Amino acid sequence: MRGPRALWQAWVRRSRTKSPWIVHFDCGGCNGCDIEILDTLMPRFSAERFGVINVGDPRQGDILLVTGPANLRNAAVLRSVYDQMAEPKAVVAVGSCAAHGGVFRGAPNILGGVGELVPVDVFVPGCPPTPERILEGVIAALPLLAEPRTARQATGGPSPMSIVMLEPREEEVVRVPAS
Ligand code: SF4
Repeated sequence: MRGPRALWQAWVRRSRTKSPWIVHFDCGGCNGCDIEILDTLMPRFSAERFGVINVGDPRQGDILLVTGPANLRNAAVLRSVYDQMAEPKAVVAVGSCAAHGGVFRGAPNILGGVGELVPVDVFVPGCPPTPERILEGVIAALPLLAEPRTARQATGGPSPMSIVMLEPREEEVVRVPAS
């Protein structure tokens, strides 16, 4: 029979994975992905019916949803937001810019995808991804909230080391300018 501590831990684990609180951070894209995230939270797609709640304080967040490319201006802020979130936490990179810099890749202040700065767990392809795809990305990150993990390094972008890369559909493929 499980003791009170084990029962409490199981209850917390269940709450986290059944009602993830998200922190939305725009690194500096064109806002297309941000509009889709807002649409995901609005009544039409209503992510809240799955317990997904958007919070403003990183210390309350479970999943960091990042849009836009990593860039010199926002690098320290993104890292700070990530560091403020308590374990267990997950990072979902939304859109082509967050994955590899997208249409901004090659610009002087662009570092590439947000994986250059924080360890990304799920890459959601598209420019911008649809609300259904964003929800798919959040759902793919849920198992990561069950247990705290040891400190992880930035991934550098989509690679075999990435935990999940949602399979891009034909209309989601974006040509990247040579850097
Ligand atoms: S992926 Fe496309 S829609 Fe999203 S921020 Fe970049 S350019 Fe805008």
